[in-house]
Amino acid sequence: MTLQVKVVEPSRELTIAGYYDTIVCGGGPAGFAAAVAAGRNGAKTLLIELAGCLGGIWTSGNLSIILDGNGKEGVFKELLDRLKAEGGYLHTNYKEEFTHDAEVMKIVLEQMCAEAGVDIHLHTRIVDAVVENGAIQAVITESHSGRHAFTAHSFIDATGNGDLAFRAGCSFETGHPKTGQTQPASMLAILYGAPQSQENTSIPEKHQELRSFLQSADVNPSYQSPCIFKLPNPNFSFFMMNHEYAVRCDSTEDISKATLNGRKELFESVKKLKKVPGWENVHLVSTSSHIGIREGRRIKGLYRLVAEDLITGRTFPDGICEVSFQVDVHSLSRDAEIGYFDGGIEPKPYQIPYRSLVSGEISNLGMAGRCVSGDFWAHASYRVTGNSVPMGEAIGYAAAHAFQNNCSLHEVDGTAVSAYMRERGYL
Ligand SMILES: Cc1cc2nc3c(=O)[nH]c(=O)nc-3n(C[C@H](O)[C@H](O)[C@H](O)COP(=O)(O)OP(=O)(O)OC[C@H]3O[C@@H](n4cnc5c(N)ncnc54)[C@H](O)[C@@H]3O)c2cc1C
Repeated sequence: MTLQVKVVEPSRELTIAGYYDTIVCGGGPAGFAAAVAAGRNGAKTLLIELAGCLGGIWTSGNLSIILDGNGKEGVFKELLDRLKAEGGYLHTNYKEEFTHDAEVMKIVLEQMCAEAGVDIHLHTRIVDAVVENGAIQAVITESHSGRHAFTAHSFIDATGNGDLAFRAGCSFETGHPKTGQTQPASMLAILYGAPQSQENTSIPEKHQELRSFLQSADVNPSYQSPCIFKLPNPNFSFFMMNHEYAVRCDSTEDISKATLNGRKELFESVKKLKKVPGWENVHLVSTSSHIGIREGRRIKGLYRLVAEDLITGRTFPDGICEVSFQVDVHSLSRDAEIGYFDGGIEPKPYQIPYRSLVSGEISNLGMAGRCVSGDFWAHASYRVTGNSVPMGEAIGYAAAHAFQNNCSLHEVDGTAVSAYMRERGYL
C-alpha cells in the first residue's frame, strides 16, 4: 500500500453566523480593551477568544505583574480600580508595579465587556479570513459548534501572534533582524506557601540572589534571572524561572515541546525546594494553560516603530500613548550569563502612533498588543501589558468611528484618535 502524501479538503459554503460592526480576535489585554472601547463607542462588537476565559497572558498564561502601567488612565485605570475593589490587586515595592489575582481578573474583564455590550465567543479559534479588494470580508472560526463565518465593517487582530493578519495574507517580521531568533517562551507558575522572605524580587539584583538560592537547592533555572512576587492572596506567589528557547509561534511541535519541558522543570524544581528548610509547605498550584510566547509575528503596518524612535523619544501627531519601558530582550540562548539584555538601546519616553496599529495592506484590519508594527528592539519595549491596553482602546475607538463614518481604518484621521486618547488621559 502506498501512503498518500496529500488529501484535498472539499470546498464548502458557510452561512454567515453573525454580522457585526467590529470583530476583535483574541481576548487578552489588548483585545479586551479593543472590544470594550468599540462597544462603548457604539459599535456592535464580537470578541472571539480561543481559551475558556478572557485575559490571555494575564489569566491562561499565569502572568500576574503588569509593567509600564504607571500613569496610564482610561480603561487601564478603570481595570485597576475594579481589581482593587474586588481585592485582586497588590502594590509591589518596586517602581509602580502591582500584581493581580487571575480569578478576579477573569471576572472583571467579563463584566467590563458585558457592560460595554460586547458579545463574547469563548473556545473559538480564528482559522481563516476571506479577503476581497484589499479588505477582510469575513473571518472563519472553528468551535464546539463547528465552522462559521462572521462579517464586520472592521476587524482587529489581538491574537498576540498575529494569526488573523497571517490568515489574511499580510506581510510580517519575526525575531532578531540578523539571526531571526525570537525571545524565549516561558511557562509561569503560581506557588502556594513560598516563604515571605523570598518575595517581591523584581529588583534586578534580587534576581541573582534568588538564582543563587535556587542553585543552592540544586535547582538551575533555565531563566538566568528568576523572580518571585507576592500575590494579593497572601499564601500565593507568582514564580518565573523557565525559559524555552527557539519556540516559533507557528509551530505546534515547538510549542508542545516547550510546554512539556517548562512544566516538568517547574514540577521538579518545586519538589527540590520542598526539601529546603522553610520551604517545606511550598506547592505548585498552577502552571500556564498556554505557555507565554513573548514574540510572534510583527505585522506590517502603515508605520513601523523602530529603535531610533525610542532613542530619540519620538512623538507623533497620531500618538496614542506614551511608553516608558526599557528594551527588555530575554536572553536568546541558555548559555547567557543573565536573563535579559537591551542591545545598548536606551529609550526616552516615546509614543506609539495610530498608524502602527493599522495594517499596511488590508484597509479594514487593525492590530493591538504584541503583533503591532515595529522592529525587534521597539517590540521588546512596547510589548508589555501596560501598553497593550491603550493600544486596544485606541484601535477599538477607531473601529467604531470607522463604522459610524462609513470609512476604513486607513481613512480614519489618526490625529482624532490621538485627541480621543488624550481626553482619556493617556497623553
Ligand atoms: C512569559 C512572559 C512574561 C511576560 N512578562 C511580562 C510582565 O511581567 N509584565 C507585563 O506587563 N508584560 C509581560 N509580558 C508581555 C505581555 O504579556 C505581552 O506582550 C501581552 O500578553 C500582550 O498582550 P496581547 O493581548 O497582545 O497578547 P496575549 O496576552 O497573548 O493575548 C492574545 C489572546 O488571543 C487569543 N488567541 C490567540 N490566537 C487566537 C486565535 N487564532 N483565535 C482566537 N483567539 C486567539 C489567546 O488565547 C489570548 O487570549 C510577558 C510575556 C510573556 C510571554
